[in-house]
Amino acid sequence: ADALFCWCRAGFEPELAAELTERAALAGHSGYARAERGSGFVEFIAEDAVALSRALPLERLVFARQKLLRIADLRGLDATDRITPIMQALESHAATGPYGDLWVEHPDSDTGKPLAGLARSFGNALRPVLRKAGYLSSKEDTRLPRLHVAFLGGHHVVLASSDPRDSSPWPLGIPRLKAHPDAPSRSALKLEEALLTLLDEEERSQLLRDNMQAADLGAAPGGWTWVLVRHGMKVTAVDNGPMRQQLLDGGRVDHLRADGFQWQPRRRLDWMVCDMVEQPRRVAERMATWFREDWCRYAVFNLKLPMKKRWEETRICLEGFEQQAHRPLEIRARQLFHDREEITVFARPKAKGDRN
Ligand code: SAM
Repeated sequence: ADALFCWCRAGFEPELAAELTERAALAGHSGYARAERGSGFVEFIAEDAVALSRALPLERLVFARQKLLRIADLRGLDATDRITPIMQALESHAATGPYGDLWVEHPDSDTGKPLAGLARSFGNALRPVLRKAGYLSSKEDTRLPRLHVAFLGGHHVVLASSDPRDSSPWPLGIPRLKAHPDAPSRSALKLEEALLTLLDEEERSQLLRDNMQAADLGAAPGGWTWVLVRHGMKVTAVDNGPMRQQLLDGGRVDHLRADGFQWQPRRRLDWMVCDMVEQPRRVAERMATWFREDWCRYAVFNLKLPMKKRWEETRICLEGFEQQAHRPLEIRARQLFHDREEITVFARPKAKGDRN
């Protein structure tokens, strides 16, 4: 492998390139990012891409939806036979296979989306050939690395691999979530995706429990509150705007018309979530206050990034958040698929003993 290959939201390539460059340097790795705005991916060419990948686990990356190790960059492919060059590249790659699964992907971008049909039919053609040559296990096997064929154009394919323990479990790094007809807003999908992406399965069952107490700052019309209620929680919804009546009728939600930057709970809550549209530094500072004062055990909040240098702003906000909390925090941040110009953060104190 000669490079990391990461999917990202189209338009956020400069952010991901800046993030990878800074993090690689901090981890003592030399290399450089190659990114084109709007392409939906970033490559980071590195001397030792395998070691760099280990130093940068996906769960620590903010702007990457997926992290792959590039095996080969195949350009100028003949549309009548793309399989032969792929097989040749696999043959000459030292650490090849067997792989536990094959994903044929394309960028989530304007030029990439039309390649979805080609990717699907090509996958169906390639899969049996790989199996016959012993490169692919006969059944899906998540203990083995995954093989990725990324169509960047009809004649341009990147061959890559991923470690199922250190990569997104969804093709393109995009979870398939459907908007629920009862949800008061599409924003509900953001919190659902956050819980699915930023927590593992065990954490979801430990941390999301019946009768937990939560606050939702900037709650209207109620998408996030609705998600928390579906997990059995009781929610104080803070917003001057109106909440969906049906949600209030359920009896698990208290609506307070108050300022989310002023309001504080009387007792420590289990959860606080926050989706207020405000300057990210101001939100980060308020979130820090919550942890400094021990007003909640877990938090999910959104940082809007309408400015230019969004990676820099992200770093400043997250560093400021932890500093001002005056206690070590576990912080996981990601630009989710449902996040536009924003990122979503999960945080909790690092100390043991408050798992339950
Ligand atoms: N998470 C909500 C949902 O799922 O339906 C959507 C929240 S919307 C993006 C942002 C909300 O933040 C608005 O309803 C706005 O009234 C509220 N908001 C902005 N500033 C606020 C403040 N200082 N205090 C309370 N709410 C605020």
